[in-house]
Amino acid sequence: MADEPVKYLLDDSEIPTHWYNVVADLPTPPPPPLHPGTHQPVGPDDLAALFPPELIAQEVTTERYVEIPEPVREIYRQWRPSPLFRARRLERVLDTPARIYYKHEGVSPAGSHKTNTAVPQAYYNSINGIRHLTTETGAGQWGTALAFACALFDMQCDVWQVGASFDTKPARRTLIETFGGTVYRSPSLLTEAGKAFEEGHPGSLGIAISEAVEVAAQRDDTKYALGSVLNHVLLHQTVIGEEALLQLRKAGETGADLVVGCAGGGSNFAGLIFPFLREKLAGNQSPRLLAVEPAACPTLTRGEYRYDFGDTAGLTPLLKMYTLGHDFVPSPIHAGGLRYHGMAPLLSHVVHEGLVEATSLHQSECFDAALQFARTEGVVPAPESSHAIAQARRAALSCKETGQEQVIVIGLSGHGLLELGAYESYLADRLIDDALSEEALTSALAAVPAIS
Ligand SMILES: *Cc1c(COP(=O)(O)O)cnc(C)c1O
Repeated sequence: MADEPVKYLLDDSEIPTHWYNVVADLPTPPPPPLHPGTHQPVGPDDLAALFPPELIAQEVTTERYVEIPEPVREIYRQWRPSPLFRARRLERVLDTPARIYYKHEGVSPAGSHKTNTAVPQAYYNSINGIRHLTTETGAGQWGTALAFACALFDMQCDVWQVGASFDTKPARRTLIETFGGTVYRSPSLLTEAGKAFEEGHPGSLGIAISEAVEVAAQRDDTKYALGSVLNHVLLHQTVIGEEALLQLRKAGETGADLVVGCAGGGSNFAGLIFPFLREKLAGNQSPRLLAVEPAACPTLTRGEYRYDFGDTAGLTPLLKMYTLGHDFVPSPIHAGGLRYHGMAPLLSHVVHEGLVEATSLHQSECFDAALQFARTEGVVPAPESSHAIAQARRAALSCKETGQEQVIVIGLSGHGLLELGAYESYLADRLIDDALSEEALTSALAAVPAIS
């Protein structure tokens, strides 16, 4: 119908003033990170070489809300509040009574949610006199976001890009360089961690993290930035869920029945669902909160809840999380951002407590759903985001069976306009659906340190 709204927009003044810290509302506190040598909980001093004091404070805070600095809110205005769309054309094609919404983070300058944390991370480093940030990037989204954020604060950004992605995605490197960043292929010869591998090795996120951490730890004017996994990163992403709650209200909904997002390290999904979890714990609504991961890298669905390293070389603190083992190298599926062996400790904790669920899908089903989404909604989703879309489609089709008018909210973490190579493979029928084998899983888990 002509008068049916399809997008719910908020005013610049409705950008959240605070990030939401779910820790304040959880029934039990998440287990602390441990020092890799002593196995004792890490203190702020252990992290000071890598992160500025404000981010370390956010990592451990139990305050319910953390104020967003005004300079960060001012930059957020460039793409926030992001739109919430009602997927009316998709609903019609699926012939479902479900009402499907998607929160579109692909409208940011880097094309994904990652700018939501890149900007505050660059800001806090810059006010502490830091001139360089080092980081890793897999699919390239995080490197792009951090290069953009560093450009705004006149800082240098050094990015170790996973070799396989460096070789196959030259456009990503160009985009990072366009924003002023420098890109190195990982494993590189610039670090001890990188030199441990032979030339031409395809690399992994775990190796690239080791390299970026090693360089940051050696230089006084240099710190490290991580695009996912850590508490402060998840905290910054909660602007997504806060806005979505407000937008659903404007759409006349009293709540959601299903909130679904893809999970690689867990940041976009946590950022979307933590505010919904707050409402759920307060008894205001009762949505199912569902993380979707690739069958080739099923961290939450098949990994073990153990203390493990965040990187391959074992330089990071030990994190209690669902893990496939820190030297696990997943098969080269196209959703590069979902190829990480671990999962954010905070998200792992709420999954372990039974507050949040997880499932996994094969990439061909995800691309099939992504094409249908592109052909109805006009948005080409990132291969990562297509996991959320495919799962939402399953839910919408089961509503068709049952006649339930569910409210489904999809976290659209980014657009896929720089991932057309992946679409090309799918359209040419060249995609392989790799599921993780039992043997590979057992051998990867054998390397996880034994800590009770
Ligand atoms: C990086 C990325 C992801 C995965 O990271 P999370 O921390 O799990 O959000 C998902 N989608 C897009 C578009 C990404 O760039």
